[in-house]
Amino acid sequence: MYDCHIHSSFSGDSNMECHIAINTAIELGLEGIGFTDHLDYDYPNYDDVFMIDFDKYSEYIDNIKSQFKGKIQVLKGIEVGIQPHVVEDTLKVVNKYNFDIVIASVHIVDKLDLHNGDFCKNKTRNEAYSKYLKTVCETICQFENFDVLGHIDLIRRYGHYDVNTLKYNDFPDHIDAILNKLISLGKGLEVNTSGYRYNLASPMPDFDIVKRYKELGGEIICTSSDAHTPEYIGYKFDYIKELIIKAGFKYTSHFENRKPVFSPI
Ligand SMILES: [Zn+2]
Ligand SMILES: [Zn+2]
Repeated sequence: MYDCHIHSSFSGDSNMECHIAINTAIELGLEGIGFTDHLDYDYPNYDDVFMIDFDKYSEYIDNIKSQFKGKIQVLKGIEVGIQPHVVEDTLKVVNKYNFDIVIASVHIVDKLDLHNGDFCKNKTRNEAYSKYLKTVCETICQFENFDVLGHIDLIRRYGHYDVNTLKYNDFPDHIDAILNKLISLGKGLEVNTSGYRYNLASPMPDFDIVKRYKELGGEIICTSSDAHTPEYIGYKFDYIKELIIKAGFKYTSHFENRKPVFSPI
């Protein structure tokens, strides 16, 4: 399996050195590891934390890629946090470097941060979750230069609501709109295990949404830990492997040079 979504010390919110992450992935028997450090233009209050010297990053990952050739496949990626007004600037970075994989994520809605609680303030769970999903759908309609949608239900990690599950039947119209758009664009869906660090009882997204993606014709599933520290690399991958098989998939995917590559699961 590949862990397609990892943050290294290039991201302001991680101290993990790339070679430590890679050696951990080798010990775990992973076939590949994707570094997808953050680009989040206009992140409220933290603009500099999520800004990276991408010239340096790109060169460094290229070197480390060849250093570990034959031992494990290293992918050069980026996780772009999209807001409507940053699309143009983000595209410039995405197009400038020869990334293997581009993950599109929504971390900010209406200029309000999910992580610090601003977005969920004064919203019921229903209001916050439906607004988040609606924004994800609008985002992938505005920004199509990506390969995989990151943590489709990230909102579950935040808001301290009594119920932090997000099942297909809770918001079928919003979820179908997102999945159909992904499928029509030929983009992948990520199964991300980072929610376990936030006391979620299931991966992001939950099984029924992975199954729905398959039912609607989706084929590209990427396995991701979103690890910022070594102990979470490949976290709970045995479990999500079973879930992905149960949802009807015979393959998982990673991206090389922005093209999906399928591995039997
Ligand atoms: Zn993210
Ligand atoms: Zn991430």
